Amino acid sequence: MTATVIDGKAFAAKVRGMVGEHVATLKADHGITPGLAVVLVGEDPASQVYVKSKGKMTVEVGMKSVEHRMDADVSEADLLAMIDTLNNDPTIHGILVQLPLPDHLNSDLVINSIDPAKDVDGFHISNVGLLGTGQKAMVPCTPLGSLMMLRDHHGSLSGMNAVVIGRSNIVGKPMAQLLLGDSCTVTIAHSRTKDLAAVVRQADIVVAAVGRAEMVPGDWIKPGATVIDVGINRLDAPEKGEGKTKLVGDVDYASCAAVAGAITPVPGGVGPMTIACLLANTLTACCRANDLAEPT
Ligand code: NDP
Repeated sequence: MTATVIDGKAFAAKVRGMVGEHVATLKADHGITPGLAVVLVGEDPASQVYVKSKGKMTVEVGMKSVEHRMDADVSEADLLAMIDTLNNDPTIHGILVQLPLPDHLNSDLVINSIDPAKDVDGFHISNVGLLGTGQKAMVPCTPLGSLMMLRDHHGSLSGMNAVVIGRSNIVGKPMAQLLLGDSCTVTIAHSRTKDLAAVVRQADIVVAAVGRAEMVPGDWIKPGATVIDVGINRLDAPEKGEGKTKLVGDVDYASCAAVAGAITPVPGGVGPMTIACLLANTLTACCRANDLAEPT
């Protein structure tokens, strides 16, 4: 069997297109421009790349994009004051604090200082609680993008066995909540899981969110299963030239694609969907803030 490749890049372009159309309508009919503020602390190169790409795509869909760069040694008080200013700025509908933060800053405190209605990353404790209880929440972008691809591919997920490898607050746990919300039977695996291979072999849907390059081999995959690879791992790629690197996921693509029914590639799978969902969440936040119908 050769798996269908789920093209996250193309799907994300479609989502961004729909967001752009809604933004144009909001501007034309209501004179409202959704605004997204990204706060970046320090000089982490990967974070800088993400922030730049987020800013570019925010502008491309017609939204206002604001970037606040703060020194790596910024005090917690100054960072909280910045968030307070953004919370009270009516032109800003979404606030994202790029993680990870330097060690001297309390990430939980910082994230929980964001107005939950503007928490487009969905990490605020209120949104976590709303999602966990099946209420209207801001949903974290990476799991949301993964769910959208699964729904698009399968239609209904009801009754499917889903195994999520990874239990982080930003990917694994919300992913499991979303799959449960779509009536999957969900198992969350992690570093202490016994016989992970046997657990994964039960899955109709495997979501790998571990951060270990190519750790899931094809012989863990049930024939025909759908594999969503969230992992982003940078490896040396001397075959591409001296000093070159490449991105790989948490699953061994070649062997998994030979067994799975469908699979997301890395790059070009979950990654682009994450940014598209950030924009979709910002649009949703803007509509809610203005008592307007939300995009579906
Ligand atoms: P974390 O490091 O926060 O969590 C990793 C999880 O994997 C933990 O729950 C850990 O278990 C589990 N784990 C570690 N080793 C094993 C193992 N040998 N077997 C089973 N489980 C294991 O990572 P994140 O959730 O933040 O990210 C996961 C991956 O997704 C990373 O590659 C990251 O770069 C990528 N990512 C991609 C995004 C995208 O847009 N595509 C967005 C966000 C993340 P335990 O809890 O027991 O330690």
